[in-house]
Parts: sequence; structure tokens; C-alpha cells
Amino acid sequence: MQRLSRTRSLLRAECRLLVVRAVRAACSESAEPDKLPDIKHTGIFINNEWEDSCSGKTFCTINPATEDSLGTVERGGEEDIDHAVAAAQKAFQAGSSWRRMDASDRGRLLYRLADLIERDRVHLASLESVNTGKPYAVTINVDLPLTIKNLRYFAGWADKIQGKTIPADGKFLCYTRHEPVGVCGQIIPWNFPLLMLAWKFGPALAAGNTLILKPAEQTPLTALYVAELVREAGFPPGVVNIVPGYGDIGAYLAQHCGVDKIAFTGSTEVGKEIKVTAGQTNLKRVTLELGGKSPLIVLNDADMNYAVEMSHFGLFFNMGQCCCAASRTFVQDEIYDEFVCRSVERAKKRKLGNPFDEDTEQGPQISEKQMNRILEYIETGKDEGAELLTGGKRAKGPGYYIEPTVFADVEDDMTIAREEIFGPVQQILRFEELDEVVERANDSAYGLAAGVFTKDLDKANYIVNGLRAGTVWVNTYNELGAQTPFGGYRMSGHGRENGEYALRNYTEIKSVIVRLREKQSSSCCSETRDVEY
Ligand code: NAP
Ligand code: MG
Repeated sequence: MQRLSRTRSLLRAECRLLVVRAVRAACSESAEPDKLPDIKHTGIFINNEWEDSCSGKTFCTINPATEDSLGTVERGGEEDIDHAVAAAQKAFQAGSSWRRMDASDRGRLLYRLADLIERDRVHLASLESVNTGKPYAVTINVDLPLTIKNLRYFAGWADKIQGKTIPADGKFLCYTRHEPVGVCGQIIPWNFPLLMLAWKFGPALAAGNTLILKPAEQTPLTALYVAELVREAGFPPGVVNIVPGYGDIGAYLAQHCGVDKIAFTGSTEVGKEIKVTAGQTNLKRVTLELGGKSPLIVLNDADMNYAVEMSHFGLFFNMGQCCCAASRTFVQDEIYDEFVCRSVERAKKRKLGNPFDEDTEQGPQISEKQMNRILEYIETGKDEGAELLTGGKRAKGPGYYIEPTVFADVEDDMTIAREEIFGPVQQILRFEELDEVVERANDSAYGLAAGVFTKDLDKANYIVNGLRAGTVWVNTYNELGAQTPFGGYRMSGHGRENGEYALRNYTEIKSVIVRLREKQSSSCCSETRDVEY
């Protein structure tokens, strides 16, 4: 009983860490989940209509906590993508209702979509939990509020995207217009299906683009439910199109010459392919949010309990399936042994279970394939000489559960210190000096995020300035806000999501130069004449 209440309070603390400042109190709730949510939409959404796939093919989507099928979904193919692109192009044509719409009305539509998602949040959180295996306490208190918040944030931007007046030489009026890029292809992963949808929809729609979204094959259900809400909100047909399917249509979308911009979140491997494809076809704009091997650095003077809890949270949150997971925990030598000991204790307490149980901290991995991939990394870690202190195996099924795993004495050149594991496996490394840790933290192909834990802000700033990463958290981790740019250095990606910076991915800048005709009045009469410049 005592253990249960401790787990609950840890889980509540974990949720709080993410919802703090991010959500309205109304969303921080414990509404009863719908454990068997009705799956209402499984088709392809084009032009505000539901369609079957042209090929007649479907695919099965499962609950990773039970390994049971949740039903079948239409499997989009190239022809379906062609239809979706044509719909998005038509909706983007000059003179279409979407293009003629007041910017503030575009904002109103986005606000309305956020309101509808909020209205149906219990259903959506339940659906997200059955399709991903995420604890319901997290989907209802983190994923949903952040999704809603993100859409509202970008709704507010719709009528604030503005250019500049440029003091050009000569008698010219020069100004810039920030215009939508056009038809956007958006490919998202399975680790945060709804939130990634919002990160993509918000800036694209606020700026007046049209889009085709391809959700991950593992997690199509919440995106398809949102499609119906898009229609209910009143978006004109063709503005938002959603085509579920496999990676083949992701690749087809990325090479489609009717697509002006592609936004991708997922593996670095696929991100590289997309960049090449875009270069070989129509040079479409590309933004990529890819993997990471993010360092979390704990200095000798850090608050031990807090740093242990936060580094645990930084890695284990969402079953370790976060692009910014703190997957290299660097601990300074004076506190290293105690830190390792406490981290192992904490990992042992992590509660695995049914995503709908209130005290569950950790659900299953997304798929058997991902689970096996993680288990292989664990074997490699052992083979290469890292010390496995807890976990290391598949947990009792059904479901793709992995025991919370901690490795200590990890060396920089080990595979588990270099590659993205994307699972509940913590790597702890020892360091002595600040310059040394900065250099080692930067010795990675990636550069997505990092964390620093210390009471000494001078030291924190010294490290912050040295790190090559798109986000650095100081005495916190995984703090993501709609207003705050997020994205990677180096092989972690291109461009930034969230905040004003995200709008840059979805706008083209048009310079308008107008020759001014100066009117001069004649001295003898009130006639005017044009003057040539
Ligand atoms: P992935 O293959 O990169 O999948 C991400 C998205 O891209 C999915 O919608 C996927 O469709 C689609 N896709 C697959 N192949 C494509 C292609 N050639 N062209 C265009 N789109 C394509 O990721 P994954 O295989 O699911 O996971 C593998 C690893 O990627 C993970 O272990 C993790 O290291 C990393 N990952 C990173 C993130 C992140 O947030 N940065 C998220 C997920 C995974 P299908 O789902 O149909 O394949
Ligand atoms: Mg893949």
C-alpha cells in the first residue's frame, strides 16, 4: 500500500514536471478513461471526406500493452497520396476560400480545433493510450494539454505574421510579405502521435498552408479522430488531409513534385533519405526533427535527490521513447558512486503495468520490433563491458514491456553511448573536469538537447555555452513549451519547431518593390505632372 502511494506520487510528480506552466488547471484531471474506446475513423481523409484506399488494402493496428488487434485501417498508397496532394493544391489555389480567408479567421478555426480536442480529450487520451501503450495518466495530463496548448499558441499567431517595410534606396516603396509556402507534407512518428500532429498543424495552418499528414503506421488512430474534428471545426475541404499507411508513402510524399515543403520527425536514417530525395526532385523545403544522444551532466554540488529523480525522468519518461531522452548521464566523480546507487534504486521502483492503472509509470514499448531492437542494444552493452546494474530483460507479457535498465561504467566509445536506443535504458558515465565533460558531451553525431544540474550558475553557464545542442535545460529536463524553439544541431535535424521560429519553416518571404510616382504641382496653375526618376 505504501509502495503504491509512493509510485502514485512519483508518477504525479513526473506528470507535474511536464504540465507545470503548460496546462490550465481544468486539464489536470483524473477523468475516468474509456478503456475500450470506440474506434470511429479508420479511413483516408481527403477533402473533408472519408475514403477507402484506392488499392483496397488495409493494415492492422494493435494495442502494444496486450498485443491485441484494435482493428484495421485503410492503407494509403501512391494514388491516395496523389489525390491528397491534388486536394491540398486546389485548396491552396489563389482565390480559394482558404486563401481569401482573413488571417484572424484562420486563427479562429485553429482555436475551434483546439476546443474540440479539449471537449473530446478523454476519448482522445484513451485512444492514444490504447494505440501507444502510454499510461493514461500521462496522455490525459501531458499529451492532451500540450496538444491543445500548442494549437492555441499558433492560433494566436495567425494574424500576427507580418513582414517589414524596408528603407530601399531611391523612390521606391519596399516591403516584405510573409506568405505560406504552399502544400506541406508532414510525416510524424509514433512516440507522441497527437503532440507531433499539433507541432506540425499549428504553424502550417496559422501561416495559411495546406497539408497532407502521414501518421506513423503504429499509431494512426488519434490523427484520424482529429481529422473528423478538423471537418467539424469548419476548415475548408482540402486544407487538411490525412493519409494513414506505411513508410513507402512517406517516401512518396517526400519526393512528390506537388509538395512544396516536407516536415519530418523520426529517425536520422530516414531524415537523411528525405533530404536527398527533396534535393533530387523539386528542391522542396525540408525541416527535420531527428534523433539524439542527449547528455545530462550532474556536477558534484547538485542536489542529489533531485538530480537522480530528474535524470531518471529525463531518460525513462515515455518508456525512453523520446528524441531528447537524456541517454548519457554524465556524473562527476565525487558523487558518482552514490548517484549510481540511487539511480538503480529509483529504476527498481519504477512501476510497469497496464496503461490504465492509476499507478503505472511505464507501459510497453511501441512494438515488438522496437522492443527487440532495445534488447539487442542491452546485449551489446553487456558484451562491450558496461556494468548492467538492474533490468536488462523483457518483462513478463503480454505486451512489449522491458525492465527499467541501468548501465554504469559506460565508456564514450561503447555502442550504447553512441547510438539512440529509444528505450528504458540509462547509461551512466563518470567525469572529472568541466572542460572534459563538455568535450565528451559534444563528441556525438547528434545535438538535440542536454541538461546540466548544479547549484553554481557560473558553472552552469560555462557548460551551456560550450554545448552544441538545440536545447539546454539547467536544473530541469524535458521542459517543452509551445513558445520555445525546439530542434537539433548536426544530425539531430534542421529548423526549429515551436515558437515564432517554427513559422519560418512555413513561410516564404516575398519582397515587393513599388516604384513611386511623384506628383509635382506646376507654379502657374494647379496642374500636376508625373516625374520620371
Ligand atoms: P522512422 O522509420 O523514422 O519513422 C518515422 C515516420 O517516418 C513514420 O511515419 C514512418 O512511417 C515514416 N517513414 C518511414 N520510412 C520512410 C521513408 N523512407 N520516407 C519517408 N517517411 C518514412 O522511425 P521508426 O522506424 O518508427 O523508428 C526507428 C528509430 O527512429 C527509433 O528507434 C528511434 O531511434 C528513431 N525515432 C525517433 C523519433 C523522434 O522523435 N525523433 C521518433 C520515432 C523514432 P512508418 O511508421 O509507416 O514506417
Ligand atoms: Mg522505420
